Amino acid sequence: MSIPLPHPRRPRWRSLILLTLLLAPLLWPLQQLAERYYSGVLIEQNRQTLDLYVANLLGTLRRYEVLPAILGDLPALRLALQQPQEPTTQDQANRLLDKVRAQTGADVIYLMDPAGKTLAASNWEQANSFVGRNFAFRPYFREAIAGRAGRFFGLGTTSGKRGYFFAAAVQDGAQTLGVLVVKVDLDFTETLWGNTPEQLLVTDANGVVILTSNSAWRFTASRPLDSAERAAIAANRPYPTQAPTPLQLDAQRWLRQDRELQETGWTVSILAPRSLLERPVRTALAAGGGLLLLLLLLLGLLMQRRRHYLERIALDARARQQLEQRVLERTHDLELLNSRLKQEVLEREQAQQELVQAQDELVQASKLSALGTMSASISHELNQPLAAIRSYADNAGVLLDHQRGEDARSNLRLISELTERMASIIAHLRAFARRDHHAPESVALQPAIDDALALLAKRRRAMQVELIRDLPEATLWVQAGETRLRQVLGNLLANALDALSEVAPPRRLWLSTRQDAEYIELQLRDNGPGFSVEALQRAREPFFTTKTSAQGLGLGLAICDTLMRALGGELLLANHPTGGALLCLRLRTAAQGVNSQSSEDFSL
Ligand code: ADP
Repeated sequence: MSIPLPHPRRPRWRSLILLTLLLAPLLWPLQQLAERYYSGVLIEQNRQTLDLYVANLLGTLRRYEVLPAILGDLPALRLALQQPQEPTTQDQANRLLDKVRAQTGADVIYLMDPAGKTLAASNWEQANSFVGRNFAFRPYFREAIAGRAGRFFGLGTTSGKRGYFFAAAVQDGAQTLGVLVVKVDLDFTETLWGNTPEQLLVTDANGVVILTSNSAWRFTASRPLDSAERAAIAANRPYPTQAPTPLQLDAQRWLRQDRELQETGWTVSILAPRSLLERPVRTALAAGGGLLLLLLLLLGLLMQRRRHYLERIALDARARQQLEQRVLERTHDLELLNSRLKQEVLEREQAQQELVQAQDELVQASKLSALGTMSASISHELNQPLAAIRSYADNAGVLLDHQRGEDARSNLRLISELTERMASIIAHLRAFARRDHHAPESVALQPAIDDALALLAKRRRAMQVELIRDLPEATLWVQAGETRLRQVLGNLLANALDALSEVAPPRRLWLSTRQDAEYIELQLRDNGPGFSVEALQRAREPFFTTKTSAQGLGLGLAICDTLMRALGGELLLANHPTGGALLCLRLRTAAQGVNSQSSEDFSL
């Protein structure tokens, strides 16, 4: 019986893809999370950058904030204001201003008279010297003249450089002698920014970009300007253009942080391109997606393993079930076979018993038959000594009458010998007729032959059968039963005499032995007609006989054969090459026994 294979399963990939689609939305919150995280990081970084920048800018501005007021107190400068026509004082003022400029790092420091004309300037030696130029139009001048601190962002009219102007009036009591202006270069604050993706944006109070790391945005308006502002721009000319173009800024693209500078009215902004977030977010997404995929694969693998495991368990269970079924079937078959065998054994035993019984009965019948045929010779054998005994006894009486005691004693001895012989004959007959179930024992062969010959002696002599004995002197011991062996020998000898009766004299009977380690072989040969072809094949069969019903029962060889086999020996039938039958008795060699006469024979 073959074990059915499990149904091939649909590939699991479809369900895995489905699972992926279901789990994919998890990537969206992951993206949000990553974006929030990285923008937080970026904002924090930018905040710090912005703080630094603002601190730097304010530091720069504050450094010069008080400078105009302090310088206004210098006598050399005041003198220059008081004596505007004096070249020496002007020269001294110029040199002083240049010295202070060099010490403070300011861009330009200059001194104006109350009309706005520059009397002395730190750049007095340069081509674009401010000396002699009038900056009354500048708001810082107006503020300073008005007694306030003048501050102004603007492009240098001669240098074109962006600067922050600090101005303060130089007072002499209530009289205003002039105005001292410190111009701080702001261009360099832009260069400080460096070449980073983050962009700087500083807008002034008008919302116009004055400082930026992106040159395209410079002097653009981050918000629409009203008319007053436009008018102020036209008047003050802080920018290179009168009408700044609007700032094109895609708010979506930038992450923006602003910081108001109260003292200047400026707004400093840092703009970080959102694209900066893309890469880390993408990386986080890829890592998350990879992890998810890995988890899915792991899950798939686990599911597959679990499925295989379950399949194997199911397969094992099925195989076990089938095995159990087979074992049950086999057990059932075996039980049937066993009971059949038992039945057969019973029948065999019964048949065996019946056979043994039949054989017993056959043996018995054969014995009785043999006894019948032998009774005549037996009575002759017994009558002969009886007659002799009678005559010896009569003679002994006569001898005693004649006082011949010695002769009478000799007669009595002869009588005694004769009775011994008779007892022997009777013992043979009794043993012959008795049923024998003894196990094989050590039996002396020659005495058994003698006994068998003795029983047939008279007939042999009547038929003038010459006996040629070729037996060793030493007793041969064989495994047999006394009675059974004599019975066999008697049968074979009787058959030989029967066969010899069919031929004319000279009739001969040969007896000889051969011996090997295991067997002793007794050969009986006669010079009768020998076995016919059919008799050679069938002589062992019960009731096979070639003799008339009065002569033979056809049991002799059958019984002999059975007895021999029961003794562990063998009966072989053949014809001698020169004619006549040749019978072999193969008997197992036995250890030397206690006596040469069977105890069974004479014990009864
Ligand atoms: P029975 O002597 O009653 O016929 P047996 O079984 O003793 O039965 O012998 C069977 C047959 O074997 C005999 O009828 C005879 O034909 C044959 N047979 C036995 N012994 C001899 C022998 N010595 N020579 C020739 N034939 C024999």
